[in-house]
Formats: sequence, structure tokens, C-alpha cells
Amino acid sequence: MNFSELNLIEPLLRAVVAMGYTVPTPIQVQAIPPVLEGRDLCGIAQTGTGKTAAFALPILQRLSAEKPARHIRALVLAPTRELAAQIQDTFRQASQHLPGLRSAVIFGGVGQSAQVRALESGVDILVATPGRLLDLSGQGLLKLDRVEILVLDEADRMLDMGFVPDVRRVLKLIPTKRQTLFFSATLPPVIDELAGHMLKDPARVSVTPVTKTADKIEQSVYFVHQIDKRALLRELLSNPEVSRAVVFTRTKHGANRVAEHLEKGRIAAEAIHGNKSQNARERALGNFRQGTTRVLVATDIAARGIDVTGISHVINYDLPTEPETYVHRIGRTARAGAGGIAVTLCGPDERGMLRDIERLIQQRIPVVDP
Ligand code: AMP
Repeated sequence: MNFSELNLIEPLLRAVVAMGYTVPTPIQVQAIPPVLEGRDLCGIAQTGTGKTAAFALPILQRLSAEKPARHIRALVLAPTRELAAQIQDTFRQASQHLPGLRSAVIFGGVGQSAQVRALESGVDILVATPGRLLDLSGQGLLKLDRVEILVLDEADRMLDMGFVPDVRRVLKLIPTKRQTLFFSATLPPVIDELAGHMLKDPARVSVTPVTKTADKIEQSVYFVHQIDKRALLRELLSNPEVSRAVVFTRTKHGANRVAEHLEKGRIAAEAIHGNKSQNARERALGNFRQGTTRVLVATDIAARGIDVTGISHVINYDLPTEPETYVHRIGRTARAGAGGIAVTLCGPDERGMLRDIERLIQQRIPVVDP
């Protein structure tokens, strides 16, 4: 699949090349066609998936089909100023060959005069945080009564930041007859309800169908100090029910150290990571498959190639920095409908990462007292 197969117009195809994109990301493949058709969209995706271009490109195409009007025709709501600024930057780059279309960004925490001046010169696309938008609208400095396309980005984060009432206020200011694009990484009940209220017969796209895998797996977490992790790991692995385990570490060095420590404790373990030769990695995998090595200690990148059935346990010795990685890691167990166990060792400075994971999988991971 390439961008021209998505029926994007030539000025957008040229912009995409200038932006350095060669192939569309999965969310772009799934979202661009229905948005071009004018349909509402419910997108489950996080930052990093290419979701901004997934809505910016088809919005620009739709707006460019009509003469420039210099009033706000597309409104994008984002929870933070950083995100709002990034979104507008994507619109600016993507519209570089569409001189008729102008975008602006407004957010709180800075003086309003520069933002007001930008609005006065006329914009087609406005990216805004909800508070500043309501503020300027209340002062009569912008009008939203001709909005044709509304985007709500990172809806679940809006909820976390207490912006849902503001979003509802904005909805009252814009026409009900419009196209609405709704994006959220997760769908907690309040957000699901908001989506239901805002969207009409939406196309649904999802690039992280992750919670399913997590359901079949018995998950638990130990709160433990970093220095106590080794001892706890040995204790966990001494359980005879652990027939085949993958232990994840964040670094290659960490993987080596953990494997050495286990070997000293007479637990058959091997490390695999990118610094090992292809041969060494295959040998380690072979031993693991046959059961001569009961424990494989791996970094995330090395683990991508592991396709071994019958993994009884996945142990997160370190928490991953990306919450999605947690889901990939624990998905190594419980393959093909079988049950599996995932244990996470969470140090005091890893609690934030654990919270991100719990938010992604929409589950609380039960805590075990050691
Ligand atoms: P986003 O999820 O919208 O925050 O995008 C994440 C990053 O991916 C941004 O730096 C984009 O510039 C980049 N990106 C978006 N779409 C593509 C693509 N099709 N190819 C390469 N990079 C992309």
C-alpha cells in the first residue's frame, strides 16, 4: 500500500514525500478512506502510530475541494499545548502545497494576543486546547458556528485532565451537522459514552487490539526494590510450575547479568540480545525450545524472533518504557488459547510505567505481597 493508492490528491502526495513518509502506517491505511468519504471515525490509537497525519491528510483534501473561506471549518481539540502544537505543525507541513488553506493553534498558559492576531487574519483549520478555545470564544474573538469537521484527539487524556465538561461545552457551540473524528488510546466508560454521543455511524479503526491477549493471562505485580529483584526472581523460578520462562530486561547488559546470576544459582538460563551473534542466539533458542534451558533472559528487540510454544511464564524483570511493549511481552505466554502467567517486578521508580500499562490494558494488575 502506498499513499497514492489511498486516493490522495497530488499536492498532498508531494507534501507526504517532503515530510519523509514513504508508506502509510496501519492507522493511515484504515482511517484515510472513510474520512475522505465524509464518514465519522472512532480511532483507537496512541501517539506514535501516525494518527495525526491519518486525520490531517483527509481533512485537508476535503477542505481543499471548496474555495478558501477563511472561517473555521475544521476544529481539532487536543488536551495539551505540546500536542496541539505538534498537530498544527503536521497540518502546516501537509498543506505546504495547498496555499489556500491556513491553520492556527491556540492554547492556554501564554498571552492571547499573538493567537488572536493569527485568528483575525482568517484560518480554515484551528487546533486548540479546550480551555483557551472557550475563553476566546466567550470573548467573541472566534466563531465556531461554521465548523464542518471536528476532531477530538486523545479523548482519554482529556478525561484524565478534567476537560470533558469543557469538551461538552464546545460541542454546544458547533453545528450538530458535521463530520466527527474521535481518537483515544483507551475507551474507559465515560469516553465510550462521549464517543457514542458525538459520533454517527462511525467507521471504527484500531491499531492496538491489545486488551484481548491480556485477558487470558494471569497477571500479577510485586513491588520490590531494585536490589531485591534478583533474589525474588530466583525464588519465583524455583517454583516447579515454571516449566519455560522468558525474563525481560530493558538492557543487554542487564540480560547478561541476570542470566549469570541465575546460572550461579543453578538455574539453567541463557541471555539473548542484539550483541550476541546470530549463531549464539539460535543456539540459545534451540536449547530453550528443547527444554535444556528453562529460562531465557531477553531484551525486547531480541525477543521479537522468539516463537516458542509452551511458555508458562513471562517475567518482567524491568518494566518496559512503552506500555504496548508490556502487552507484546506477556503475549509470549498463553499462545493458542492456553493459559499463561505474567509476573512483573516493579521497582519504586517504575510505578509510573506500571500506571501507564494499567491504563492501556484497562485493568488493574493484582499486587502480590512478597
Ligand atoms: P503521531 O502518531 O501522529 O504522533 O506520529 C508519530 C510520528 O510518526 C511523527 O513523527 C510523524 O511525523 C511520523 N509519521 C507519521 N506517519 C508516517 C509515515 N507514514 N511514515 C513515516 N513516519 C510517519
